[in-house]
Amino acid sequence: MEVYGWGRFPKASAALLEPVDSESLIKILTAKKKIGSMIARGAGRSYGDSALSENLISSRFLDSFLSLDQESATIRCGAGVSLDSILKVCIPRGWFLPVLPGTKFVSVGGAIAADIHGKNHHQDGSFCDHVAEFTLVLASGEKVTCSPQQNTELFHATCGGMGLTGIILDATIKCERVSSVSVRQRSLVANTLSECMELLDTNADSKYSVAWLDCLASGDRLGRSIIYLAQHDGNSDTTKEPKYKNRRGPTVPFDTPTFLINKFTMGLFNSAYFNLKKKGPRQSTAHYDAYFFPLDHIGNWNRLYGAGGFLQYQFVLPSGAALEGISQVLSKVSGAGKGSFLSVLKKFGKANANLLSFPQPGYTLTLDFKREKSLFPLLDGLDEIVLAHGGRIYLAKDARMSESVFKAGYPAWEKFLEIKTRVDPTGVFSSLQSKRIGLT
Ligand SMILES: Cc1cc2nc3c(=O)[nH]c(=O)nc-3n(C[C@H](O)[C@H](O)[C@H](O)COP(=O)(O)OP(=O)(O)OC[C@H]3O[C@@H](n4cnc5c(N)ncnc54)[C@H](O)[C@@H]3O)c2cc1C
Repeated sequence: MEVYGWGRFPKASAALLEPVDSESLIKILTAKKKIGSMIARGAGRSYGDSALSENLISSRFLDSFLSLDQESATIRCGAGVSLDSILKVCIPRGWFLPVLPGTKFVSVGGAIAADIHGKNHHQDGSFCDHVAEFTLVLASGEKVTCSPQQNTELFHATCGGMGLTGIILDATIKCERVSSVSVRQRSLVANTLSECMELLDTNADSKYSVAWLDCLASGDRLGRSIIYLAQHDGNSDTTKEPKYKNRRGPTVPFDTPTFLINKFTMGLFNSAYFNLKKKGPRQSTAHYDAYFFPLDHIGNWNRLYGAGGFLQYQFVLPSGAALEGISQVLSKVSGAGKGSFLSVLKKFGKANANLLSFPQPGYTLTLDFKREKSLFPLLDGLDEIVLAHGGRIYLAKDARMSESVFKAGYPAWEKFLEIKTRVDPTGVFSSLQSKRIGLT
């Protein structure tokens, strides 16, 4: 069958295997007749080719809740359970997931394999910082329990390891107790990039923060942005939470004709959004669903960039180099006339001990681009800026980074490879991405 990630590029042909439990998974791995390379696939929300291979081991049926501990607010579930399903279980108990990405439709396995981050990395770290343990099935079919205390090396290689060490079967996640799932939101306007970064810094006590940037603004307006800060509402009376209908918004019914996505329409959109939000209300209370997952309400929004798909480019730069590096990236993007509907800047806090996890202290910028031939040389140029400023590119979004760019950005790759080779000596687990970046 033809498969692809959220960016709809690249596309590949693969066999889909759907084990229903650990026994059927082990049978696939230990079969006498070898089927070739394989990689785990969760909800397919990574953008590029990290969940593409000759054979895909889907976690679709590993979707059971296994236990729930009221006292420690922990949930143990199959790797195929979505964050959406977990929220439905934990919210009525006054619990919340401590790290949420921009979509709730990712699986637990995918969240661990990419060690995903949210709008609160500066305070709460990334997803795997809240994973108590998980069960990993190795290429040999052996089941191993990994945690920060048990099989520690394998834990730190698998968290952020993009499925290359084995298949995560189930995981125990520590939830957070919150006073309310609604958030009190405040927005601020920044007229330049340095103002935006300063506001993210001075408001670092806000649990959640994120900035939307007008990526086509140039000159003295470069980096003009709207910053959204939020905290859980202090109101513990859940009956007073705003009423919210979780209805689906519009669906993009067909691929947008690509000629409509150009410098002019992007510029118009960016300018209009900035000016609209600049005048909008400064404070509001929002339901968690509207605040954390606005894009989930537009069905198939990945068709907005046309039939050729799109690429998301996300990088992080250390604090000291971020202003200069991000300015250079934005100038290059607007100079090339390539725009993005969604340009998002977040502040990262401390890194963790996971070998291939993306976050490092500093700032991360995310840009979306329609796929077209002229995009690739531009992105190669952005890679050079990122590396020159001590940064790296996020594997969960990547579809085209070269081996040398990957290895320069992730200095722990050798240590990772040593552990991978130990647990997967014949290289059973590999993806199109891992081959491209020289990990398999
Ligand atoms: C709209 C949108 C917003 C997003 N926002 C954010 C964000 O704010 N922050 C962020 O960090 N990410 C974000 N992402 C990226 C997303 O969180 C990651 O790509 C995540 O890995 C997707 O999970 P998945 O279940 O879809 O995994 P897939 O895309 O299916 O797979 C991703 C990787 O995980 C591995 N994997 C999946 N399941 C298993 C398993 N059971 N065992 C071992 N490995 C496994 C795969 O092999 C692959 O390498 C966003 C994505 C979208 C589409």
